[in-house]
Amino acid sequence: MPIHTNIVDAIGNTPLIKLRKASELTGCTILGKAEFLNPGQSVKDRAALSIIRAAEADGSLKPGGTIIEGTAGNTGIGLTLVANALGYKTKIVMPRTQSQEKKDAIRLLGAQLVEVDAVPYKNPNNYIHYSRRLAEEEASKSDKSVIWANQFDNIANRQAHIDTTGPEIWQQTEGQVDGFICAAGSGGTIAGVAMALKDRNKDIQCALADPGGAALYGYYKNGELKSEGTSITEGIGQGRITANLEGLELDDAFRITDEVALEILYDLTINEGMCLGGSAGINIAGAIELAKSMGPGKTIVTMLCDYGNRYQSKMYNPVFLKEKGLPTPPWM
Ligand code: PMP
Repeated sequence: MPIHTNIVDAIGNTPLIKLRKASELTGCTILGKAEFLNPGQSVKDRAALSIIRAAEADGSLKPGGTIIEGTAGNTGIGLTLVANALGYKTKIVMPRTQSQEKKDAIRLLGAQLVEVDAVPYKNPNNYIHYSRRLAEEEASKSDKSVIWANQFDNIANRQAHIDTTGPEIWQQTEGQVDGFICAAGSGGTIAGVAMALKDRNKDIQCALADPGGAALYGYYKNGELKSEGTSITEGIGQGRITANLEGLELDDAFRITDEVALEILYDLTINEGMCLGGSAGINIAGAIELAKSMGPGKTIVTMLCDYGNRYQSKMYNPVFLKEKGLPTPPWM
């Protein structure tokens, strides 16, 4: 491996790890892309870097400029670490409901963090709209460049996965991949990886794993954007077709409950040595469903988006779980 000139070069090129129990259960080879090994410990480092590089290239972001974004947390962490390494500042807007650990990580990196109430997208005070307005205000006051990263509708996000994640999966499996599945937040990961894989082999089955409370499952099943259920998972569950999701063609969709995802995550921690965040649980459960629907002998890839320590106060905390009426990790 070559010497990296800075931390930004260490983003991507994550390992694919065989998930033993999921593979045994289905007779397939189920592989997880270990995105928690990125420098900011999540898949969102890739989108952050791509968004910043695109803004540099189009001239909107200049040295010493500021990047503003609304995020469930991981994009804020990724943007801030890339910004710090490349000489920019960040202001991050997050819904209060997201995990304390992600807020702490953003503050630890030196970003300015603004917490806002968690309200639906159609409310003008939703964190996404709030961050856009903040960027407009700051731009009007500053003589330096200020950009709104706009991860949901900025397709530099999915381009990161068209350029890196998808080709990495293709190379790592030597083209022997039959299926890909993950959840959608901005939709950058699922759209970018699916587009890159289908471009190489259109028969690769690409599917969505949707948590409760999200509307995309209905959309990809029957064209109706309809939300059902709830989920404690963070960073996933989308209610609209973002620009990153536009043009994405999926072969299937599965709705996954928190109970199923948590059981997988607790088992994976104790028996396979990986303690992962909630979206990874939804993704692995989705991979199991896709494998069952495709039949044995297939190779299916999913995303292990972030690590469990980011949710120690939530899905790995018996008090929180009891309040939500969810099962507790058996060893706690
Ligand atoms: N998992 C986690 C933990 C995330 O933070 C995110 C992004 N918010 C995702 C999955 C979804 O990724 P994307 O935005 O590319 O759809």
